[in-house]
Amino acid sequence: MNTENRNHAARLGGKDRPAGVLVVGAGPTGLLLAGDLAAGGVPVTVLERRAPGHGNLSRAFGVHARTLELLDARGLADELVATGHRLRGLRLFRRLSLDLTDLPSRFPYLLITPQYEVERLLERRARAAGVRFEHGTEVLAVRQDDAGVTLDVRAADGTLATRRAAYAVGTDGHRSAVRTALGLPFPGRSVIRSIVLADVRLAEPPPELLTVGGTGDAFAFVAPFGDGWYRVMCWDRTGERPDGDPVGLDEVRDITRRALGTDLGIGEARWLSRFHSDERQVPVYRAGRVLLAGDAAHVHSPAGGQGMNTGLQDAANLGWKLAAVARGRACDALLDTYQAERHPVGAMVLRSSGGIIRLAMARNALQRAFRDLVSLAVGHLPPLRRRALGAVTGIGIAYPAPRGAHPLTGGRAPDLPLREGRLYEALRAGRFVLVTPEGRADGPADPRAVHVTRTDGGRTTLLVRPDGYVAWAAEGADDGVRAAALTAWAGEA
Ligand SMILES: Cc1cc2nc3c(=O)[nH]c(=O)nc-3n(C[C@H](O)[C@H](O)[C@H](O)COP(=O)(O)OP(=O)(O)OC[C@H]3O[C@@H](n4cnc5c(N)ncnc54)[C@H](O)[C@@H]3O)c2cc1C
Repeated sequence: MNTENRNHAARLGGKDRPAGVLVVGAGPTGLLLAGDLAAGGVPVTVLERRAPGHGNLSRAFGVHARTLELLDARGLADELVATGHRLRGLRLFRRLSLDLTDLPSRFPYLLITPQYEVERLLERRARAAGVRFEHGTEVLAVRQDDAGVTLDVRAADGTLATRRAAYAVGTDGHRSAVRTALGLPFPGRSVIRSIVLADVRLAEPPPELLTVGGTGDAFAFVAPFGDGWYRVMCWDRTGERPDGDPVGLDEVRDITRRALGTDLGIGEARWLSRFHSDERQVPVYRAGRVLLAGDAAHVHSPAGGQGMNTGLQDAANLGWKLAAVARGRACDALLDTYQAERHPVGAMVLRSSGGIIRLAMARNALQRAFRDLVSLAVGHLPPLRRRALGAVTGIGIAYPAPRGAHPLTGGRAPDLPLREGRLYEALRAGRFVLVTPEGRADGPADPRAVHVTRTDGGRTTLLVRPDGYVAWAAEGADDGVRAAALTAWAGEA
């Protein structure tokens, strides 16, 4: 162990009583999680297989409203929005589009920006919060005991070593070594066997910001990087090939032409690749001191653009809980709520993205008739439309509430106007926020929460979790009741 690693081990608490968290994988999920943990006062090391300076393959292009809200709660949303374009409607398939302009959010759109912009901001934030990065470090094996977790790692030069901490989180993508080392299954199946990705120049750029189209056998999606290059993602059901088969530009042109009616004048390519898309979810997100998040826990088709968004929301759910447990401020059982809250969301995303892709690619008359029925129902029944909108954008996600709880409990807290600014600005402290109505005498300041006053006329008192969901709500709660709610969620004062 070199001096730097020895010093860090000391900071993590030594060999026998380790502290801190090891995050495996510096994709969007790991970066957001690491930043949250460090901001919460936990020593964090990110172990990343890629060499320094080697960017992740940019896959995602869409950042949904709920993710933008979570980034707003970290002071990053406005900067990210400035890097991209706002898409006000989302076409899921031929006759079904969702109008995003009515979303009850500060971000009533889908932000089109490459994944690397999200990662750039999250990495900068994580470094500023004190996260330590070890690039060129591949995690090979995981062992855990009552006191901590030990990871076997291999450096780029082949040197083997171990890293130890109180907890570890596998955010190492769909082929997660952490998940494999835990012996957890990843049940599911391949949905699309041969998706072609191409970064190209276009002689005839599409009029729409995001172009999606499909016939029975061919499907294509086109999105701009914003620098003159476009990402074409296309799939030919009749011509599926193994991932390793080379991709030719003629293949990309042919599928695009069949799917969209034009090949958009596809010219020079800077990168071509072929991959397959699976639908899988690990049955448990936690095994003792090791947790899984993002693609390591669930993967699905790119339809609806939800993978990165779901991973970022996993991280936001886990970060404050793990920080509280790692610092001894909450009991271990709080970590079980991560599984209880996020596993059903992952399952829902698998269902919805799978449903979209199957309907988009409907082949026979019966399937097409069903698709038209779904389009009609979602288009004309406001409750169904709201549900679809809430699921795709993440705005409608809510967590289970105990029986008899106030109806707002577990729901997403809206960005309420406050005497002190906005709720999502107050959440930037990374703490619970106690929101009381105007005109009610302030109780004694409680160090466990940021105290703010809502100015929207609402009379409900809210305790908002650091991840922007309502922990507890009440009409006319007195100081004692509020303090009890804080103790239940944030521990003893
Ligand atoms: C074509 C395509 C389009 C997509 N479009 C969208 C979209 O529009 N919107 C959306 O939300 N999502 C989209 N997705 C999904 C999205 O890209 C992923 O869900 C997202 O990258 C997952 O992030 P992650 O951090 O969980 O994992 P990853 O981004 O896969 O990051 C994992 C990291 O772990 C590292 N790693 C792996 N193994 C090890 C190891 N053993 N030791 C150390 N490090 C390791 C890797 O190098 C990597 O940096 C798309 C995916 C595809 C394929």
